[in-house]
Amino acid sequence: MNNIFDLAIVGAGPAGLMTAKTAAELGLKVTVIEMKQDIKKIKRACSAQFVMDEGYENESVKIQDNKIFFTKSGFDITYTGRSLNIIDNYHHSPRGHKIHLAHPDHRPFAVKFDKGQLLQDLWEDCEKCGVELRLETIAYGGEDMGEHVRIDVKKHENSYSINTRKLVIAEGANAKLTGVFGLNEGRVLFGTPYVVSYTIEGTTGFEPQSWNQFYGSEYHPFAEVMVESSIYGNDTIELTIMGNKDLPPDEIFENLVKNSPMSKHFSNAHVIDKKGCSLKSYASLKKPYSGNVLAIGDSAAHVEVLVQGAFMCGYHAATAIKNELIGKNGFEQYTCWWNQAFDFNRADALELVKLYGSLAMRPKYSDEELDYMFSLLEGEVLNGDFSQFEVPKKVWKAILAHKTQIQSERPILFNKIKNIDELNREGKLN
Ligand SMILES: Cc1cc2nc3c(=O)[nH]c(=O)nc-3n(C[C@H](O)[C@H](O)[C@H](O)COP(=O)(O)OP(=O)(O)OC[C@H]3O[C@@H](n4cnc5c(N)ncnc54)[C@H](O)[C@@H]3O)c2cc1C
Repeated sequence: MNNIFDLAIVGAGPAGLMTAKTAAELGLKVTVIEMKQDIKKIKRACSAQFVMDEGYENESVKIQDNKIFFTKSGFDITYTGRSLNIIDNYHHSPRGHKIHLAHPDHRPFAVKFDKGQLLQDLWEDCEKCGVELRLETIAYGGEDMGEHVRIDVKKHENSYSINTRKLVIAEGANAKLTGVFGLNEGRVLFGTPYVVSYTIEGTTGFEPQSWNQFYGSEYHPFAEVMVESSIYGNDTIELTIMGNKDLPPDEIFENLVKNSPMSKHFSNAHVIDKKGCSLKSYASLKKPYSGNVLAIGDSAAHVEVLVQGAFMCGYHAATAIKNELIGKNGFEQYTCWWNQAFDFNRADALELVKLYGSLAMRPKYSDEELDYMFSLLEGEVLNGDFSQFEVPKKVWKAILAHKTQIQSERPILFNKIKNIDELNREGKLN
């Protein structure tokens, strides 16, 4: 067959581009299919920060001299854009009590970056290795023919097919093509929240270099609201709000800036950018491949692998493809790595996410109960981590250090947190 690629990749996000670069460096003939017109234009909501916790998702990321080093996997990526160190992590109760996490030496637990520039830098490296990029092209179907894979694509009104020995699906969280190739069969869908992230200039009163979560009914009826410092200056923030089809994020946003305890910070502010997404929250794929097709990054994840995780997936996927093409079982090797690397692939982690959610979900705790629990930790600084799995453990352990007091002062509240106390006693919060 003429014109067959070694590897076709659907999606020029961080997972797809990293696969393309690494596979091309390994000598493969690679094409990337991307529906956007411009890969550096980011439309989906993304806070764009690297998690700097040692050992996070079995990796440790270091940033130095325009390079991002993945020290365990042994690769690096060029990044020439702006960055901002995030050093304080605050959880705010309805009446302003704060739980504060930070490293004692003020080193950053997260580093914000410009995602568009990061993808542009990565694409330039792909181009140097001879990767072909098909922009404004949607992959909508296809079939694994055994010897090769056929992918059906459409650019404007023009439909055609591409033949490839192996296919990597790196289409992100909505995982449509993943379904077309049969990988979503039996996969649980937990829900499809809407998320909108507003970049707002001219704000006052938010801590610089910080990540904040605001809890309670005056901010949001059922979830926390996130406020992050921005790479665009101290008077600019990113405000991220989750909603659903009955309560869209824009409605919550209007209330926040006009009627909530944080509205005073917005008197002279205006929105300079808005990004959104609907987020299919699938269970992760424990076996992310079938035949000649491998799903990586958010397409195979429970919600998200983050940008750094997407790079890791891309790097390991390319090696897997190379091995598959020389007759080794690369997809099985990838699957072992995938299941060990990510917290959401370890059963207990999902349990902990549920517990963390239960701190945010106001119907479970009243505003008064949130104020009470947060006030117990006022003035303390918990040792900073940023992982969505480590932070809840730390916060709950710190609250439970006041267990006897809670039991005697708030017996009803204590009853609500009894299951978390049990986890603590079983050592699962360590
Ligand atoms: C609210 C929010 C906050 C976040 N905050 C952070 C954060 O702070 N730090 C962090 O690292 N990550 C964050 N993330 C997660 C991060 O954005 C993702 O985990 C990461 O981008 C996943 O990379 P990916 O390459 O797997 O998918 P994506 O980045 O989604 O890329 C998929 C690409 O595929 C293309 N595509 C999709 N379908 C097709 C098709 N059929 N044909 C052709 N092209 C297609 C898309 O246009 C896109 O370019 C956040 C996400 C959300 C929603």
